[in-house]
Amino acid sequence: MEKNESRRLFLKTLSLSLGALLVAPVIKFQQAWGALVDAKDPVAKALGYVAVAKDAKDRKDKTQECSKCQFYGDATGKAKSAKCQLITSGDVAGAGWCRSFSARAPAAPAKKKS
Ligand code: SF4
Repeated sequence: MEKNESRRLFLKTLSLSLGALLVAPVIKFQQAWGALVDAKDPVAKALGYVAVAKDAKDRKDKTQECSKCQFYGDATGKAKSAKCQLITSGDVAGAGWCRSFSARAPAAPAKKKS
């Protein structure tokens, strides 16, 4: 009887350990790539954030989207999602938009070598 209990405990511990080993890389991956903005984020709601800019009802300039905003975390504007300085619950979509859009200044031209 005692032998069965210790075997059960061993198997339980083993299965929990294997489960943790399988889940850990998924969590690391999510942290590395960043989770997208939580749909319930009050700041995102207040700013009218949408993940697809063309879905925004009050966007007047069709060229505006997060990837071109000065608050977008990826200065190249090429990342599909990145941190936003205003909405911090997760990454915003590069194709997204909110009412606080502010165009990023164009990159300075590369200096010529003399
Ligand atoms: S502030 Fe800029 S980057 Fe952030 S959600 Fe609004 S438009 Fe996108």
